[in-house]
Amino acid sequence: MRFDYNDQNIFAKILRGEIPNKTVLETEHSLAFEDIAPQAPVHVLVIPKGAYVSYDHFARDASDAEILDFNRMVAKICETAGVEEGFRAISNARLHGVQEVPHFHLHILGGRPLGRMLE
Ligand code: 5GP
Repeated sequence: MRFDYNDQNIFAKILRGEIPNKTVLETEHSLAFEDIAPQAPVHVLVIPKGAYVSYDHFARDASDAEILDFNRMVAKICETAGVEEGFRAISNARLHGVQEVPHFHLHILGGRPLGRMLE
């Protein structure tokens, strides 16, 4: 699979500081910020700072340090952002996944019962 990263996407602009964001956590390799159109009381997006299009791109090509940093950030969000009662982590990818922003991001949703998604 070839992944072509377009650095004009909105999250690339957020990472370059061209668009403001409500930062929840930031580390060397990762950034967590509030979704602009929250679908639940807690709706945080976690992104790597590296240029990865989708989850599979990140999982295949990111360094061990980036992957560890990203996952530790997810763990911190789940401990501190108000989702102690549970959460849903979603990553949409490409056309069939209906991915709007082509920079890999994990949605962390919670703060209310979310209902069943898969039957
Ligand atoms: P996707 O459909 O790609 O998985 O989700 C993209 C998410 O990015 C959506 O939930 C949308 O609300 C969010 N989003 C789009 N533009 C912006 C923005 O400029 N700032 C922030 N914080 N979130 C955004």
